[in-house]
Amino acid sequence: MATSNRLQTQLYINAKWCESSDAGRFDVVDPATEQVLASVANATSADAAAAVDAAGGALAGWAALAPRNRGEILRKAFELLDMQKERFAELITRENGKPLADSRAEVGYAAEFFRWYSEEAVRNIGQVSRAPSSGARILVQHKPAGVAVLITPWNFPVAMGTRKIAPALAAGCTVIVKPASETPLTMLLLAEILQEAGVPAGVVNVLPSRRSAAIVGSMLKDPRVRVVSFTGSTETGRALLGEAAKFVVNPRMELGGNAPFLVFEDADLEAAVAGAMTAKMRNMGEACTAANRIYVHESIHDAFVTRFGAAMGALKVGNGLTAGVAVGPMVNRGALEKVESLVEEARGRGARAVTGGHRLPGPGYFYAPTVLDEVPDSAACLGEEIFGPVAPVQRFHTEAEAIQRANQSEYGLVAYVYTRDLSRGLRVSEQIDAGMVGLNRGLVSDPAAPFGGVKQSGLGREGAHEGLMEFLETQYISVGW
Ligand code: ADP
Repeated sequence: MATSNRLQTQLYINAKWCESSDAGRFDVVDPATEQVLASVANATSADAAAAVDAAGGALAGWAALAPRNRGEILRKAFELLDMQKERFAELITRENGKPLADSRAEVGYAAEFFRWYSEEAVRNIGQVSRAPSSGARILVQHKPAGVAVLITPWNFPVAMGTRKIAPALAAGCTVIVKPASETPLTMLLLAEILQEAGVPAGVVNVLPSRRSAAIVGSMLKDPRVRVVSFTGSTETGRALLGEAAKFVVNPRMELGGNAPFLVFEDADLEAAVAGAMTAKMRNMGEACTAANRIYVHESIHDAFVTRFGAAMGALKVGNGLTAGVAVGPMVNRGALEKVESLVEEARGRGARAVTGGHRLPGPGYFYAPTVLDEVPDSAACLGEEIFGPVAPVQRFHTEAEAIQRANQSEYGLVAYVYTRDLSRGLRVSEQIDAGMVGLNRGLVSDPAAPFGGVKQSGLGREGAHEGLMEFLETQYISVGW
């Protein structure tokens, strides 16, 4: 079946499109125009039960399919998504707001998870060893964990989905995806692609819903559900961990971040500014990997701030569909107001806006790219995720101070380090409490690398071989040989 040009707005359960059991719907708004893009079916707990039945029913068949066959289907999904890059990119821009260039990059990144896990599906490798004293053989193998509930955020509407769906399917799990209510259309379009790629009925189900807590809670109660994989805020993650604990469901949590960006005195200044632009402005700063706290050595602080401020100030803001626009709107009014209040609070405490520092006229939730200098330690924007185009800069004096400041956060997702001295770079990287470090790189996300954080940033890893293991259970058989 070829995908149509019409937007899918219904629930996708057992390879069928359907309305919610109470016929409820909710609106999806274009953040650049504040106009309603579409209304989407609002799944109920009864729909969630139907989706778990579908996923549970499909599990044995999918798990038994030869890994090579599962891999071929994932490979096909990669090809189809790649072929339809423009269509996906435009839809992402419409519902999320990010500029087309960012959307295209996201679709490319998203598709790569299908390619990587099409290759990883055939590398579910166990081991055999001899028990040291009993003489038995220890046979270890990895089996699909079961039905997985995947909950995705609005900032990367397709990539945060494929980063979970691809390893789950490679492992032999079946899934129910609950996309973010701000951006469900992209995930529904992905369901069409997966159907076309040959994913059997029930293996992937998609449930847009405004009743997240109720429907997810009801799914976790079902003993067939063995994994809940979530990407979103630490606050929601904590609530979900509580739910998962009640029913002893495996939690995989990609939560918030508050990334430090360290620029040492021996850094290549041009590269550091370019890296800061990427680390801060990818997705308008609406990323858990966004550089939130920029620490620059005192000897180059002024030169860095001048160049960085000029680069940020030159970015064109507007509707992401317009050519040349580099910064789109915030995803919704709440996000805009949060950014605005963090900047006002920092200014009230003495911070200075080098560029930006204000919202832009609507319609649409636009905020000017902002660099804040002389930010005092007490400013809230250093402690909380900003999730917007605002870059607070502070200066440091010694390497030890830089490390101490970098680690001064409850989060530990990613850090960025710029220095020409490789031994310093590695020494500093090792001392930073973060799951990932970009050393002279402003971007760490890669399907072949384990993505994830420590401390309040989460549990588990996505991508790489580790990502596959998150959807497998280890079984050991003691064999009298
Ligand atoms: P944000 O990224 O907007 O801060 P959240 O962490 O609140 O988002 O949400 C991320 C995802 O989790 C979205 O799909 C959202 O609908 C869903 N969600 C929100 N609250 C809950 C909850 N209590 N239980 C399960 N899922 C939730």
